[in-house]
Amino acid sequence: MEYQAGEYDVAVIGAGHAGIEAALAAARLGCTAVIFTINLDAVGNMPCNPSIGGTAKGHLVREIDALGGEMGRAADQTFLQSRMLNRGKGPAVHSLRVQSDRRAYHAYMKKTLERMKGLALKQAEVVEIRAQGGHVSEVVTQLGAVYRVKAVVIATGTYLSGKIHIGEVSYEGGPDGMFAARSLSASLRALGLTLMRFKTGTPARVNRNSIDFSQLAEQAGDKKIVPFSFETDYEMKNRVVCHIAYTNEKTHEVIRRNLGRSPLYSGRIEGVGPRYCPSIEDKVVRFAEKERHQIFIEPLGIDTDEMYLQGMSSSLPEEVQLEFLRTISGFDQISVMRTAYAIEYDCIDPLELRPTLETKKVEGLYGAGQFNGTSGYEEAAAQGLVAGINAALKIKGVPPLLLDRASSYIGTLIDDLVTKGTNEPYRMMTSRSEYRLVLRQDNADERLTPKGYEIGLISQQRYERFLIKQQQIECERSRVEQFVVPPSTPINEFLAEKGTAPITTGMRLAELIRRPELDYASLAPFDPGRPALPEAVCEQVEIQLKYEGYIRRQQAQINEMRRLESRPIPAGVDYTAIRGLRIEARDKLEKIRPLSIGQASRISGVNPADISVLLVFLAAGGHGNVSRETTEGGEHQK
Ligand SMILES: Cc1cc2nc3c(=O)[nH]c(=O)nc-3n(C[C@H](O)[C@H](O)[C@H](O)COP(=O)(O)OP(=O)(O)OC[C@H]3O[C@@H](n4cnc5c(N)ncnc54)[C@H](O)[C@@H]3O)c2cc1C
Repeated sequence: MEYQAGEYDVAVIGAGHAGIEAALAAARLGCTAVIFTINLDAVGNMPCNPSIGGTAKGHLVREIDALGGEMGRAADQTFLQSRMLNRGKGPAVHSLRVQSDRRAYHAYMKKTLERMKGLALKQAEVVEIRAQGGHVSEVVTQLGAVYRVKAVVIATGTYLSGKIHIGEVSYEGGPDGMFAARSLSASLRALGLTLMRFKTGTPARVNRNSIDFSQLAEQAGDKKIVPFSFETDYEMKNRVVCHIAYTNEKTHEVIRRNLGRSPLYSGRIEGVGPRYCPSIEDKVVRFAEKERHQIFIEPLGIDTDEMYLQGMSSSLPEEVQLEFLRTISGFDQISVMRTAYAIEYDCIDPLELRPTLETKKVEGLYGAGQFNGTSGYEEAAAQGLVAGINAALKIKGVPPLLLDRASSYIGTLIDDLVTKGTNEPYRMMTSRSEYRLVLRQDNADERLTPKGYEIGLISQQRYERFLIKQQQIECERSRVEQFVVPPSTPINEFLAEKGTAPITTGMRLAELIRRPELDYASLAPFDPGRPALPEAVCEQVEIQLKYEGYIRRQQAQINEMRRLESRPIPAGVDYTAIRGLRIEARDKLEKIRPLSIGQASRISGVNPADISVLLVFLAAGGHGNVSRETTEGGEHQK
């Protein structure tokens, strides 16, 4: 029996990493919002590794924070160990990663939602979404509660028609023993959405007291901790260490012997899994030449002895999992608390989404997170933030937030999804960006905080602090460009020590900093007028000086990309009427309906010749027929 349960501007289905950001953004932008989850005890749950960040994922978290999202603050408040990955490489790939206290992260996010004005948090399974006149209108729960809404964000994660696989056993279910969302897929298909079937897997959780740590290598956190949030100004201390173990030939032999019982290799799993997060079975098969695979043993929290075995996700039968784990040095007495498993779930074909993350088929309906075909907490949170912002901006009648590929990894992620699509869970990597030297994690605020302020998610106070920082960077840059270091015995002894050429005449400090052997910090003794500046400011000055040339070149590429991005394509173009277009290009353009020439040029199957046809067609006022000869410089004009 249905009943009217209330009215909200925005309904968010899912209180995982995507849903949380979407609901907070919508409420912080002044909308009334309701967020649903199947189980309140799984708000902000980490069903996979108890960590936030990592290569390229760390960039996403900093960008979320710079725009006014919550994940960065939550990660800083609940971290157990912090490491800056790839420190030995250039700043473009420096990536922050923290071990998180899983229950503390959940509690932080649940409380943040509970305390958000204008937001209602509810434990209920949404079984139907309704639309009127092509626009979303209501959501209905399993108990018949009907909520009238102006916008809906679907952030259902790995729960949508979730199916668990462990060896020969398969059953409907969500992660961590939660229920699956059994009914919503049918409602989404009825709305005309195309759903795909993906899969992912997770390793076992084991009892710390059953591990012989004397046989394992220890991995400590960084001495100097860099926070995720640009707002974090309190002292941060590592509280745990992680450990490293390795599989061996015996482990691989057990796995090979039982491959026939793997739901993956027996074909019982239909869903497509993530290439970049392979199960241990996959690793043994795909990298057969490798004698051992690394395992990181990560604590799940301060108040628990449960440990996560990073790198050992599997869906082999339970007893086989125990057998191969006990072949590993240090694990011979291991006690498994949660068995590893694979989960299949439904997600949308992201080519059905606009760059705002609104669906093309139903107005006011947005997608975010795993539901959009990605994998990872950070990828999910980034999309949730954008979807929540755009749902609110549309209701307020304000132009949407569109982040291009040169603004951020968030923009790169969304453009990849809605322009190229994905046929496996999409995970962010630095190699996915052609502008990674500009899209560093250290300058996410410079790139995005003004945008966050403009849309209303960044407060006036925070924006003023940001402006002060930018000013400090600018002042310090011009100071070191002007300050001339005189030649002297001490400086030349120092330069000799560093293996770089002595100076015979005065040299501008900036020039010295640009030398690969030197850096801003080490030149302090020769810079008497140096002001006391925050480390983040000094870091910016150094990076901007050292990579100036590369950054300038990349900026030129960005300007060219933005020139093409600024060539809009009218919404109603009938690609089937443009004679010069190849069939494949016509079909792809018709399906994706790119917003600009720039986006059209990134669609796979649309080649430069097709873009020329399109450019001439648009130049001719976007109507009438255009022939290929015309575009390829044929003489006669229409
Ligand atoms: C087994 C497993 C292994 C994973 N392995 C990896 C990995 O190796 N690497 C990686 O990067 N990521 C991995 N992940 C993915 C990672 O967990 C997700 O990417 C991330 O949690 C996605 O966030 P989300 O917000 O989209 O969804 P989730 O965090 O899954 O949250 C979904 C939310 O939606 C709610 N919900 C769903 N349907 C309904 C409904 N109908 N009504 C009401 N509420 C609903 C749920 O209650 C939950 O609150 C794994 C996840 C699982 C489960």
